[in-house]
Amino acid sequence: MDLRDYDIAELKGVGPAVREKLSKLGIETYQDLLFHLPFRYEDRTRIMPTASISAGQSAQILVKVEHAEIAFGRRRSLVCRASDNTGSVDLRFFYFSKAQKDKLTKGQWILCFGDVSRGSGRATMIHPEIKYVNDPSRPPLDNCLTPVYPVTDGVKQHSLRKLLQQVLQRLPKTNLEELLPDTVKQTLGVDDLKASLQFIHNPPPGTDLVDLIGGEHPAKRRLIVEELIAFNLSMLRLREKIVREPAIALPPSTQLRPRLLELLPFQLTSAQVKVGEEISHDLNQPHPMLRLVQGDVGSGKTLVAAMAALQAIEQGYQVALMAPTEILAEQHWNNFSGWLGELDIECAFLVSKLRASERRQMLESIESGSAQMIIGTHALFQDAVNFQNLALVIIDEQHRFGVHQRLSLKEKGRHSHGVPHQLIMTATPIPRTLAMTAYADLDTSIIDELPPGRKPVQTLVMPDTKRHQVVHRVASACQEQGVQAYWVCTLIEESEELQCQAAEVTAEQLAEAMPHLSVGLVHGRMKPFDKQAIMEQFKAGDIDLLVATTVIEVGVDVPNASLMVIENPERLGLAQLHQLRGRVGRGAIESHCVLLYHSPLSQNGRARLETMRETNDGFKIAEKDLELRGPGEVLGTRQTGIAELKIADVMRDRLLIPQLQQSAKLMHQQYPQLAEKLVIRWLGTREVYGSV
Ligand code: ADP
Ligand code: MG
Repeated sequence: MDLRDYDIAELKGVGPAVREKLSKLGIETYQDLLFHLPFRYEDRTRIMPTASISAGQSAQILVKVEHAEIAFGRRRSLVCRASDNTGSVDLRFFYFSKAQKDKLTKGQWILCFGDVSRGSGRATMIHPEIKYVNDPSRPPLDNCLTPVYPVTDGVKQHSLRKLLQQVLQRLPKTNLEELLPDTVKQTLGVDDLKASLQFIHNPPPGTDLVDLIGGEHPAKRRLIVEELIAFNLSMLRLREKIVREPAIALPPSTQLRPRLLELLPFQLTSAQVKVGEEISHDLNQPHPMLRLVQGDVGSGKTLVAAMAALQAIEQGYQVALMAPTEILAEQHWNNFSGWLGELDIECAFLVSKLRASERRQMLESIESGSAQMIIGTHALFQDAVNFQNLALVIIDEQHRFGVHQRLSLKEKGRHSHGVPHQLIMTATPIPRTLAMTAYADLDTSIIDELPPGRKPVQTLVMPDTKRHQVVHRVASACQEQGVQAYWVCTLIEESEELQCQAAEVTAEQLAEAMPHLSVGLVHGRMKPFDKQAIMEQFKAGDIDLLVATTVIEVGVDVPNASLMVIENPERLGLAQLHQLRGRVGRGAIESHCVLLYHSPLSQNGRARLETMRETNDGFKIAEKDLELRGPGEVLGTRQTGIAELKIADVMRDRLLIPQLQQSAKLMHQQYPQLAEKLVIRWLGTREVYGSV
C-alpha cells in the first residue's frame, strides 16, 4: 500500500471534526500529513543557565521557586521569582487559578519553556509551559527538537505532533515511493527521502538549528529540491494544457504596423524590434502564445504591445488590454486611441466607474465587434462583457494580477477557433530566479535598452526638516526654468479616502506657498474623465506642479516633467519608488527626484533610499528589492503560489533554481507519471492552477 491510500481518519485521535479541520490544511492522507512540514523548531532537549538567556529567544530553564505573589499593576498578574545557580528570572501569568498559584511553593523545582522578554531589568517569561520536577538531577528532557507546524483554528500543535509521530512510526514499513528518477537524484546528489522526513519531523538533540533553518542540511535540501521541482512541474503542466489548445494563427501585419511606425516621431530601438519579432512569430502559430515581456520603466513596452495588437486587428480580430488600475487603463486608452484612431480602428474603454449609458455603449461595441481594441481594468472579465472574436489578450503590469485572473480572461476569450494568445508585460523587472520560478509557464522577452537620449535621474535623499527649502527650490525651478514637477503624497493608512484627503491638504498648502504657480491635484477617488482632464492639462503645460497620490505610479507619461518630490518615500517599496521615479527622466532635460523622508529611518528604509540614490537600473533595484523584502512581497500576490511553498525559499535557495528547472523539464518530458505524482505530493489538490 502507498501512503496516499491511507486516510488520516485511521489515526488515533482523528474523529470527523478533526478530520474536517485538517482537510482545511489540505491534509487528508498519511502522505499529506507527512509532507506538512515544520516551519521552525523549539529546543526542549537541553537546559539553559538563566544567566545566558536573552530577550527575543525561546529557552528552557530549570529553576527553583523563591516566591510567587499576585501583583496589582495595570493588569492583575501572578509573578513568580525563580532562580538557578547562575541567576534569577520572573515568570508572569495573566490567567491563573488558585491551584496553580499554590503549587508554586518556595523550593519547588520547575522546568520552564517559553519566550524570553525583558521586564523591569530582569529576564522574564510570560506564560511559560511548566513541568514540576521532583528530582532536579533528572529533569524530563525531550529527546529531539520540537517541530512547530502551521496550524489552523482548532488544531493544536501537540495534537498535530502526536498524529505525525503515529505516521512516522509506521513509515519504515510503508511504501513511500521515490519519485525522483535516478538520473535526477544523481545530478542533484540528494539524500534518502524517508530518512529526510524522519529527520525533519524529529531532529535529534544537538542538531544545529542554524543549519536546519538555512537550506544547507542534506535532509532539508532533499525536501527543498522535491518541492521546487514539483512547483516547476505544475507550471510546466499548466503551460502544456494551454499551449495544446488551438489558437488563431495571425500572420505578420503588412499594412497597419508599417503605417503606425510611419506616424511615430522616432525609430524603434533595436530591443523593441527584437522583442516585436519574437511576439510576431508566436502570434503566427496555431497555438496560443504565452509570453512575458520584461523591460525597465520607460523602455517602451506600450508600443511593443500596440504592434502586437495590430497583427490581430489586421486579420479582423479583437484585442483586449487589461491594466491593474484605472489611471493606467486611461493612459493606455489615450495612447491607443491616439495611435489606432489615426489608423481608423475603433477602441473601447471599460472600467467600473463608467456611467450606465457609456457602459452600455461600450458593451455593445465589444459584442458587435465594431470595437477592435478594448482597453480596461479587471472590469473586462465581468459577466456582462462578451467579446465578438478575441484573438489576443495583453496584460500590463502582470504581477499585480493573480494568475487566476489572467486565466479567466483567457477563458472569456474562448471561442470556436480556440483560445486567445496572451502577452504579459511587467511594470518593473523581476529578478531572474524569481521569474524562473513564478513564470515558468511563460516564454520571456526582455527589452534591454532604453530609447536614446534618456538621462539617468539624479536622486537626492533629504530629511523632511528641509521641506521648506525643497518647496522653495521647486518654486524657483518651475517659475524660472519652466520646469514641470510632480509632488507625490504617500500615507501609511490603507484607506484611499484618507490618502486622497492628505493630497488635497498638501495641494492647498503648496498652492498657498507658491502663489505664482498653477498647482493641480490628481488622486484615486476622482472620476476617470476628471483625472484624464487634469492629466491632459499637465501634459499641455497648463499645470506647473501636479500634486498626486501614488496613483501616478504606473504608466503616466508626461515627458516635459523633470522634477519629482516624493514625501515619506520610506513608506514605499523599492519597486514602487522606481516606478514613480520613472515618471521623470523621459524628456531631453536632466531630471531630479527628491526623496523627502521622515526620521528616524529603519535600517531597511535607509537601505531602500540608498539604493534609489545609487542606481537607476531596474534590474539591480529588483534584485535588491527581493533581498530586502522576500519573494512573496515582491510579486505582490499570493496567487503565484510562491508564498505557499512549505520548505523551499526562493530567495535562500536561489542558487539551486536553474539546475532544478532543468530537472523539472527532464521529468516533464521523460517521466510524466512520476511528475504527476510529485505534483500531487507537494501541491495536492491545490495543484497550482489545476482547474484550467
Ligand atoms: P514602459 O516600458 O514603461 O511602459 P512606455 O511604453 O510608456 O514605457 O514608453 C515610455 C515613453 O517612451 C513613451 O513616451 C513612448 O512614446 C516613448 N518611446 C517608446 N519607444 C520609443 C523609442 N523607440 N524612441 C523614443 N521614444 C520612445
Ligand atoms: Mg508601461
